[in-house]
This record gives sequence, structure tokens and C-alpha cells, in this order.
Amino acid sequence: MSETEGAHPDPDCIFCKIIAGELPGEILAEDDHTVSFMDINPANPGHALVIPRAHSKDLLDISDADLAACTLAARRLARRMGETIAPDGFNVLNCCGAAAWQTVFHFHLHVVPRNQDDPLELPWIPRPGDPGEIKATADTIRGEG
Ligand code: AMP
Ligand code: ZN
Repeated sequence: MSETEGAHPDPDCIFCKIIAGELPGEILAEDDHTVSFMDINPANPGHALVIPRAHSKDLLDISDADLAACTLAARRLARRMGETIAPDGFNVLNCCGAAAWQTVFHFHLHVVPRNQDDPLELPWIPRPGDPGEIKATADTIRGEG
């Protein structure tokens, strides 16, 4: 059980309100720990969100158990979409922090069906990095800097 399970939902959180039925949501699937529903601003047809029932604000905040439950629910949903709307692929992504485009501060995974000819693009241009800078950053992350 997650640390926050059973806690009173954040009164200002729109995703807690969807879970509580106080705001409408096009629900796709539910289990004891997660709810999956359609995104109201879809990047592609079928764009959905998977959220934990227990409020946690982001990737750094969510409990291990809820993160595992959301990841498994996202894969179940992708498999279900594969059997129904049958896209060519998926992006499963999370935004953690305002600087990383997070706009709703209740953890969520985006499940975005993808097709070969869809208009979505990578948000960065892949270019070779400087090997010295890559190593220096890796050293810092490893605590060897
Ligand atoms: P993020 O920018 O990663 O925090 O994603 C938040 C997502 O929530 C966006 O894709 C929004 O379109 C979506 N969203 C916001 N409000 C609602 C809502 N009431 N119902 C469904 N999706 C929503
Ligand atoms: Zn919430």
C-alpha cells in the first residue's frame, strides 16, 4: 500500500476531482491503484493518461508501489489500444517539473498512440554531444566529479 493511499485528496487537484467523480473524465480503465482516462487535449487520437488514485505530485514524489502500478496499467492500456485502435506504436512519457512541461501536479503517464504518418516530432534535434562534457556530467551524477 502506498504511503498516501487513503489520504484525503488534494482539494485543488483536477485529477483527484476526476477520480472522485467531481469532474468529468472519459474513463478507460480502473484498478485498485490507478485510473486511466482520455486526455482532453490529445496529441494524437487515443492519447490517454494513467494516474495513481493516491495523490502524488510527480515522479520524485510517487511511491514505488504506485509507480509500478501506473507503469503496468500503461502497458495494459497500450495492449488494449493495440487490439482496438491498432496504432503502429506508442510513446509513454512523463513530465516531471514545470521546466519539463509538467502542467498538472498529480503524477501521470501519457500513453500516446503513434502512427508512421502522424505529425508528431521529437522535441529535440539529436546531435552528437561533446564526449568530454558527457563524461564530466556522468562523473557528477555518479558522485565522482
Ligand atoms: P503534463 O503537461 O505532462 O502535466 O500533462 C497534463 C495533461 O493533462 C495535458 O496533456 C492536458 O491536456 C491534460 N488535462 C488537463 N486537464 C484535463 C482534464 N480535465 N481531463 C483530461 N485531461 C486533462
Ligand atoms: Zn491529485
